[in-house]
Amino acid sequence: MSPMFEHVAFIGFGLIGSSLARIIRRDNIAAHIAVAARSQETLDAAVELRLADSVSLDPAEAVKNADLVMICTPLGAYAEIAKTIAPALDQGCIVSDVGSVKRCVFSELAPQLPDNVHIIPAHPVAGTEHSGPKAGFAELFEGHWCIITPGKDAEPTAVEKISELWRRAGMMIEIMDADHHDRVLAMTSHLPHLIAYTIVDTTTGLEDYLKKEVAKFSAGGFRDFTRIAASDPVMWRDIFLANRDSIIEVLDRFGADLEKMKNAIRDSDGNRLIEAFRRTRDIRRGVIKAHQETPEEVKLANR
Ligand code: NAP
Repeated sequence: MSPMFEHVAFIGFGLIGSSLARIIRRDNIAAHIAVAARSQETLDAAVELRLADSVSLDPAEAVKNADLVMICTPLGAYAEIAKTIAPALDQGCIVSDVGSVKRCVFSELAPQLPDNVHIIPAHPVAGTEHSGPKAGFAELFEGHWCIITPGKDAEPTAVEKISELWRRAGMMIEIMDADHHDRVLAMTSHLPHLIAYTIVDTTTGLEDYLKKEVAKFSAGGFRDFTRIAASDPVMWRDIFLANRDSIIEVLDRFGADLEKMKNAIRDSDGNRLIEAFRRTRDIRRGVIKAHQETPEEVKLANR
């Protein structure tokens, strides 16, 4: 079977970019993989991993002759990258991305790109707290959702090509409006990360005698937050800033709910706590029904 793409150019080649490249390589999805990154170290790793046919520190060089450009950098780099690659893009090329916020593709990237390319934003909702090309693995996306947020005028064949690419990575596809995506993800991903960062950071202000005990007794719940709070700082700064409005909206709700919990505890209102905890158990059942537990959780449940 001939490859789906002639020349795929990755701009940014960390956890997500290199994981997708592993699939493209494994399944012969592209005849040529070009990689651009900021550092020579990342380009050397891409060559060492045999995931790149050509490498460059210049994104414009990497996208020459590309029929697919995959932007896999933090969101804050989008505007600059768009400006750099715009003059080098071939007519009809698909420009896609993997960013965790989608409205900004239309505000930061699209206005700088020529009208004759197809902009098809996507968000593979899968990841780990690790970064860089060596952290990638081909199974990362299996069984998870990829949300694609094409604009109203997007070419259906280009949307289908990006959908098929992510299906080959083992993902299920959902097509969604970018605004809706950003509101949903503010709740399911961005707020939990912000809470984890905040809880873990709270310990840095504790008195020394308490601080010492935090790591030792972390298995009581804190440890799970430290894993999330170890995620890449630049990537998450960019997500919070790019999705400011939706995050502030859910933070307001969360703040009000946290206050209610605090009041229930202060008032020794056990019934209110039980009611809330019963509701949250139902949500957990929904997560399990949707097969969204981690592989470790599935193993434990089947013991
Ligand atoms: P990563 O492992 O940190 O890799 C980021 C890559 O972007 C690196 O190759 C880096 O180059 C390059 N880069 C950084 N700043 C750049 C700039 N200003 N100009 C050009 N290249 C730049 O990140 P990742 O985890 O793959 O995340 C990439 C994107 O995927 C983010 O937008 C994130 O929102 C999204 N995403 C992440 C996850 C996750 O769990 N990690 C899940 C879904 C979506 P150097 O290595 O040379 O510095």
